[in-house]
Amino acid sequence: MFKKPENKEKVANILIVDDVSENIFALEKLLAGEGRNFLKATSGKAALKLAYSNEIALILLDVQMPEMNGFEVAEILKSNKKTEGISIIFVTAISKEQKYVLKGYETGAVDYLFKPLDIEITKAKVSTYLKLYHQQKELGEQNVVLENLASLVDNSMDITCIFDLDSFKIEEVNQTFKPLLGYELTDVIGTPLLDYFHSEDVNETKKIIQEELANNSDIFVFENRMKCKDGSEKWMRWKLVVKNNKCFANGADITIRKQTEKKLSENLAYLVRINKELSEAKRVAEASVKIKQDFMANMSHEIRTPMNAIIGFTNLVLKTNLDEEQRSSLQSVKISGENLIVIINDILDFSKIEAGKMSIESSPFDMKSLLNELMKLQKQTAEDKGISLVLKVDDKMPARVVGDSVRINQILLNLLSNGIKFTGKGKVELEVKILSETDKEVNLEMSVQDSGIGIPADKLTDIFESFTQAKGDTTRKYGGTGLGLTIVKKLVNLMKGEIKVLSEPDKGSRFIVTVALPKAAADAKKADDTDDIKDIQLGKLNILLAEDNELNQILAKRVINNFGCELDIAENGKLALEKFREKDYDIILMDIMMPEMDGLEATKIIRNEFSAPKKNIPILAMTAFIFTESSDNKYLEAGMNDYILKPFNPDKLKQKIAKLVQNRE
Ligand code: ADP
Repeated sequence: MFKKPENKEKVANILIVDDVSENIFALEKLLAGEGRNFLKATSGKAALKLAYSNEIALILLDVQMPEMNGFEVAEILKSNKKTEGISIIFVTAISKEQKYVLKGYETGAVDYLFKPLDIEITKAKVSTYLKLYHQQKELGEQNVVLENLASLVDNSMDITCIFDLDSFKIEEVNQTFKPLLGYELTDVIGTPLLDYFHSEDVNETKKIIQEELANNSDIFVFENRMKCKDGSEKWMRWKLVVKNNKCFANGADITIRKQTEKKLSENLAYLVRINKELSEAKRVAEASVKIKQDFMANMSHEIRTPMNAIIGFTNLVLKTNLDEEQRSSLQSVKISGENLIVIINDILDFSKIEAGKMSIESSPFDMKSLLNELMKLQKQTAEDKGISLVLKVDDKMPARVVGDSVRINQILLNLLSNGIKFTGKGKVELEVKILSETDKEVNLEMSVQDSGIGIPADKLTDIFESFTQAKGDTTRKYGGTGLGLTIVKKLVNLMKGEIKVLSEPDKGSRFIVTVALPKAAADAKKADDTDDIKDIQLGKLNILLAEDNELNQILAKRVINNFGCELDIAENGKLALEKFREKDYDIILMDIMMPEMDGLEATKIIRNEFSAPKKNIPILAMTAFIFTESSDNKYLEAGMNDYILKPFNPDKLKQKIAKLVQNRE
């Protein structure tokens, strides 16, 4: 805030000019008082000198002096800018009529005291002129403050104006109005401020002001748009102060801020829209992944159910007396069926990996026996083609390592069967070497080398892409879907390993997988249940089968009877519950998908509504479903003890039944 001039102690200089010192002395005595300082001169020249070098409030000037008389002194003082305003009282003996000589002194007060001096009049006159001097001085100082304020207001970046509260007419406005809005100040004064508001904002602004006034607010703030003389618009932030029925308005230009805000909110709206589109796209993508998964799971079920019968019956018939031709034909049926199952499994694995649902297990297993089993499995195929199959395992291979034996088996089986498939003569060799090892883990290199058709150099990367084969006629000549290596590569990557291939057309190929596996602790429990199953004797168990498919019923009956067990069959979950109520069984084999009541529901009823010991009967799920979600949980949550996939391997079934029945006892 600007301060008013301070009320300093006011001292006024009075200059007494007289060629007679006694007169000066007498006047000084007469006029002495607080706040008065006397300067004295005995000649006109000395008086002028003092007047130029001091701030003089009043001069008491003797008229008759030698060299330069009082009138001449006054004339010089009045002609000088610095001294023209000094009040002069002539002290004279000249008669009153002669005062007209002094006409023409227009600036500054001039008065007379006639000798002999009247004490009271002299005192009164001097007091009056001193008072005048002080008032003028104060006014001058206040003027400076006002000028400073005016300059501040005029040079402000904001518009400042005063308008009448009733008529809104502008009474005062600062210079800024012109550069900001383009109007001449002279045109603006006297017109309502509302005239300069944007036409779309006039009513709203008027309403704001009137409401604030009605609420007796004396300070309020709002924003609106002004219309400029050139037709453009400007955003202003107004602060209004109400005082003495007038409004003191300060308006700041906030156009840039508003434009930035607008841009930001446009960008925000754009982002919100894009986000919405993206989440919609994500939803659609997720929905289609779900549809695909459901389709895969259903397709797997639809194909596996009849395949169970085909492979199962083929196995049964193969055990009977057949002539060579019949045996060879049935063998082909069996191999084709098994190939079909491999293809279905590949497609399911692929979609599981794509959906990010494939997880890698980690349990201890015996690598050497895994490799031996693999060899056994592929031996016949290789022998049939006249190819020798060789296994080389590093002598230092630890007894047990930790990893996903099922997936490692799948990787090597894929590479081995490709090797055999694409090799006409020669050999296929599986070699497992230890590249390096620490106390905790082994870094393994597992390679499959063949002497087959090889792969052209430009196809070496493509073959790992899904549904890609090295040559156009591969499917026709060798079969396959082009998914095997894609799955192998993804599995290897999931194990944080690497795969590469070296190959030369007509010479052969070498697929190399490197992966680090932790060594299992010496006392680690066996995770893979490759127990010897040949000798398991189930005894005369009473088994209940819930299964709706007639062929599968017959197949199961034959297999179970072969185990030496008794089998009752129910066509759905509901009938199974009825049978179970009437009779005690050792185990229930439960299909999942059945009409009327499915296997999961029937299981839940047994677990929740039957009393012990019946409710604790082992239940083994038999399903053609490979769920893309974790299937184990679904069965186990329903209360089942384990599950077996169709088409089932009879030995595996026997093993699972034995384990469950044994655990119950
Ligand atoms: P599939 O064998 O079902 O066609 P894969 O993904 O296993 O699918 O293999 C892709 C392609 O890579 C094969 O079709 C074949 O062209 C080529 N390939 C794979 N392994 C070998 C191999 N050992 N020798 C020659 N070509 C191979």
